Amino acid sequence: MTTAAAPSRTESKTTEHFDVLIVGAGISGVGGAYHLTTQRPGTSFVVLEGLDGFGGTWWMHRYPGIRSDSDLHTSGYRFKPWVGPPIATAEEILAYMGEVIEENDLAQHIRYNHRITNARWSNEDKRWTIEATQTDTGEPRRFTANFLWMCQGYYRHAEGYTPEWPGMADFEGEIIHPQTWPEDLDYRGKRVIVIGSGATTATVVPAIAADVEHVTVLQRSPTYFIPGRNRNDLAETLRELDVDETWIHEIVRRKILHDQALFTKRCLEEPEKVKRELLDGVRQYLPDDFDMETHFSPTYRPWRQRIAFVPEGDIFKGLASGKASIMTDGIERFTPSGILLKSGEELVADIIVTATGFNMNVMGDINFEVDGDPVDFSKTVTYRGMMFTGVPNMLWVFGYFRASWTLRADLLADFVCRLLAHMERKGAKQVNAQLRPEDAEMELLPWIDPQNFNPGYLMRALPLLPKRGDKPEWQHTQDYWREKDEIPGIDLDGAEFVYS
Ligand SMILES: Cc1cc2nc3c(=O)[nH]c(=O)nc-3n(C[C@H](O)[C@H](O)[C@H](O)COP(=O)(O)OP(=O)(O)OC[C@H]3O[C@@H](n4cnc5c(N)ncnc54)[C@H](O)[C@@H]3O)c2cc1C
Repeated sequence: MTTAAAPSRTESKTTEHFDVLIVGAGISGVGGAYHLTTQRPGTSFVVLEGLDGFGGTWWMHRYPGIRSDSDLHTSGYRFKPWVGPPIATAEEILAYMGEVIEENDLAQHIRYNHRITNARWSNEDKRWTIEATQTDTGEPRRFTANFLWMCQGYYRHAEGYTPEWPGMADFEGEIIHPQTWPEDLDYRGKRVIVIGSGATTATVVPAIAADVEHVTVLQRSPTYFIPGRNRNDLAETLRELDVDETWIHEIVRRKILHDQALFTKRCLEEPEKVKRELLDGVRQYLPDDFDMETHFSPTYRPWRQRIAFVPEGDIFKGLASGKASIMTDGIERFTPSGILLKSGEELVADIIVTATGFNMNVMGDINFEVDGDPVDFSKTVTYRGMMFTGVPNMLWVFGYFRASWTLRADLLADFVCRLLAHMERKGAKQVNAQLRPEDAEMELLPWIDPQNFNPGYLMRALPLLPKRGDKPEWQHTQDYWREKDEIPGIDLDGAEFVYS
């Protein structure tokens, strides 16, 4: 690929052209910008971000206590040591990302308040035309790019997922989704219900417990948690030995990934034993007579959904203190003063927080066209969960759920840089992922196997998502431990890549 091409006849004066256009300035997009700068110096690129700041998930979520649910040694980038406690607040993550931007002079490449609406590929021009709206002025903006690097995440940022319950309009208090938490929400002295049992609930409840009159966790079914101290002993020991932070980062990452691989294997081989251990971990924080079976004993196998780490077991301490309580029950309907449960009991509340997850979206709700034809991603087949048949010169960073997202963002960034170099060497302007003759009869399956991993947001979105095949090349395996060797080893001249 060439750098900073001269405007073609199809461009107006207001169209800017780049070799690479990155969508989104979250962890993946900022990481992509770093890797392009260091691995492909001279490549012209721009990062378009719809919000007015970097950080994506960590910029957007403002609910009390917002923090990571996995460690930042692996949720941080491979190339920049994480020196804080493993579980980090959004503020700490944003500060870390800010350092990456500053240390690598990336700010010049990022355009905030640029919401992309359309992406059109032309086989004749061999480039993308990207239409965006500048959200602070309302002005349309147009860009062209040789390669589109989709770092837009996986869920709709504008609003979270709230199921429709009967009677919601009758409730006289406030209904809040954590994704759009109002900055001025005053919950002091109020009775709060938090619906949901995931990582968000585990974060919000201890953060507000001290200030509210009472907070009730209302869950339909229990979830697994791993409580523990928010400190990494190995990192602390290495620090005491005056080991360089770059080394500590690498060693601690390897140790965490090694332990996670063992844990995942055990979840598959001895799920009942792992379940008992997880429940014992929670039990130590709760009174002896606490009903563990009803509230903390999930029916699904450990690791079929992401397991949240709970630093210092803070949510369980809240439950033990009586300031928080937990109900495992279905919702019959909302009432003017709260929620009527299936069991007949009524919970009274001033504020109801629906920590019920998010809506996945496909490619940032951007309308895609190839040569004038709209792209329906559910009709495409994914190449390793990153490229899509019939959609040239484009890659989506979809990270891991069981391991940290960023591990894959780094791996895919290496892949993009290698692919761009390969195309340059070949003099190719276009690459398509294409089924090979031996794939012609391959059964096409949903994006992910629900037996393997099945959180609600993924199940709701399956009909919209690209298809997978039954061979590793056509699947997003969600297996970091395989992909860390497979992705760097991909043969770019393999028959699944067609260049022109
Ligand atoms: C509350 C919460 C906690 C999480 N905790 C963890 C954790 O502990 N560990 C972990 O590994 N993962 C966690 N995740 C998953 C998390 O989303 C990823 O780790 C990671 O932050 C995703 O980064 P990203 O850059 O790929 O996407 P995002 O963070 O979603 O950022 C995408 C960016 O793209 C922009 N964008 C989207 N569409 C457009 C468009 N059309 N035009 C312009 N810009 C657009 C968005 O505005 C956004 O800034 C968590 C997710 C949530 C919601």
